[in-house]
Amino acid sequence: MEDYIYVSSDDDEWDNQQYNNDDDDGDDDDDGEFLDGFTEIEQERNGISEKGPSCKVIRKETLLAAQKEDLQRVMDLLSLKEHHARSLLIHYRWEVDKVFAVLVERGTEKLYAEAGVTLEGTDEHTSTLSTSEVTCQICFEDVPVEKTTVMDCNHKFCNECWTTHFIVKINEGQSKQVTCMAQKCNVICDEGKIRDLVTAKDPALAEKFDRFLLESYIDDNKRVKWCPSVPHCGNAIRIEDDEYCCEVECACGVQFCFNCLSEAHSPCSCLMWKLWMKKCKNDGKTVTWISENAKHCPKCHNAVEKNGGCNLVRCRCGQPFCWLCGGATGLEHTWSSIRGHTCGSYKEGEEEKTTVRNDLLRYTHYYERYMVHRDSLEAEANMKQKLNFEVLKLEAGELQSKDFGWVENGCNRLLQLRRILSCSYPVSFYVFGQALFKGEMTPKEREIKKNLFENLQQQLEINVERLSMFLEEPFADYPEDKLLETRMKIITLSVLTDNLCKELYDCIDNDLLLPLQQATHTMAHYRSEGVAKASELPN
Ligand SMILES: [Zn+2]
Ligand SMILES: [Zn+2]
Ligand SMILES: [Zn+2]
Ligand SMILES: [Zn+2]
Ligand SMILES: [Zn+2]
Ligand SMILES: [Zn+2]
Ligand SMILES: [Zn+2]
Repeated sequence: MEDYIYVSSDDDEWDNQQYNNDDDDGDDDDDGEFLDGFTEIEQERNGISEKGPSCKVIRKETLLAAQKEDLQRVMDLLSLKEHHARSLLIHYRWEVDKVFAVLVERGTEKLYAEAGVTLEGTDEHTSTLSTSEVTCQICFEDVPVEKTTVMDCNHKFCNECWTTHFIVKINEGQSKQVTCMAQKCNVICDEGKIRDLVTAKDPALAEKFDRFLLESYIDDNKRVKWCPSVPHCGNAIRIEDDEYCCEVECACGVQFCFNCLSEAHSPCSCLMWKLWMKKCKNDGKTVTWISENAKHCPKCHNAVEKNGGCNLVRCRCGQPFCWLCGGATGLEHTWSSIRGHTCGSYKEGEEEKTTVRNDLLRYTHYYERYMVHRDSLEAEANMKQKLNFEVLKLEAGELQSKDFGWVENGCNRLLQLRRILSCSYPVSFYVFGQALFKGEMTPKEREIKKNLFENLQQQLEINVERLSMFLEEPFADYPEDKLLETRMKIITLSVLTDNLCKELYDCIDNDLLLPLQQATHTMAHYRSEGVAKASELPN
């Protein structure tokens, strides 16, 4: 990997050292050059795929550049013209490796034949070229040679017939693989010839043809998908490695699952998420969910509204309680009183209930928890602005410490954790229920795994609430020692929750999903740094 030179204003010595290593004749007047060099390296570094799943955003302006690389590789290897390379790649769904594999295994002839590519040059009908008039075998009109077009397969028809054929095909949505008109000929027509003929008759349609052709790179390529944003941002995302089940963030800010195009939903699998979304839509209204705006204090029974994302709320009477279950959590709003409180696990009712009622109760239990963290996520998203303001205040202050990156990092971490937590509840609902995993586990096994999973989930939940609590503190007004203490707590909680998330994902992957017989579940892997942000392609 390329050495990356980092320019930091408060670390000149280190910079000079690096600089001198790179260039021996360095003296003071090279500073400008050095900075230019840095810019170049920085750009280069951004171009190189970094560790982990990386992805690129493809915009309208970069769509052509995005496919150039693949086209060029095929053109270079097989000494092909661009339109032939494109036909090949469209046929092999833009998998350059597949093209190479077919080439090695089956030879050039088969490779081309399957994709409908014929190279010109084997013209047996050269003699007809000298004739001034030919009979079109489609319309049986005699037309001058210059008003006919011959394709790579040597089939020649009049321009009128070709144009009609192309227009029909494009309107049928077959722009990407317009085949020859001759019977039993499946050769793909030269895109340049199609463009010229169609432009003469219908320029707007020719433009549409070009767009379809260009967008094949997105539509027929499993490495590239349109961003699912509504209204559509116009971008597509390309995955740079072979991990197709991952979560990505488009330049427009929308985060989504690359596999199923829903919003990011790990650690829930794509299948479970699909079912969960459907269930929420159908059953959402029938569930009596009273906790939408207010809950009743366990002590004085007054309605208490929640403000902020923290799930430990405090009533006017002073009673703190858990927003999730409504249970009192002790008189003091302290570290230990939250620690002592666990409510994440659902206890099956002892009395025999009808299955339907039991199902609804189970669903309500998990749905409430799912929604609580979603609501918190929404509330905490607004917290970001407030925190930025706090950081400005801190930076303006007379403090020794100058680095307040931990505030933003802590906030981003919290948002990520809220999403993960909310999506972990559908996992509980499905994996330990009967709807999707019937007969997959013995009751004993289920009990053990449920305890394992829900224990992790609870630990995560407790620590997420703590993180939320510390971030809500007015630390900008704290004296320095207390501020550093808060900083330490937030950093420690970030590390702790990172490890818990790893464990939680591992548990789902290895203990819950791996032994399954009935269905394969795919889920994006955990990334400490959160959803992968797509970087820009050079124009
Ligand atoms: Zn004709
Ligand atoms: Zn033909
Ligand atoms: Zn987008
Ligand atoms: Zn998915
Ligand atoms: Zn009260
Ligand atoms: Zn709180
Ligand atoms: Zn609770």
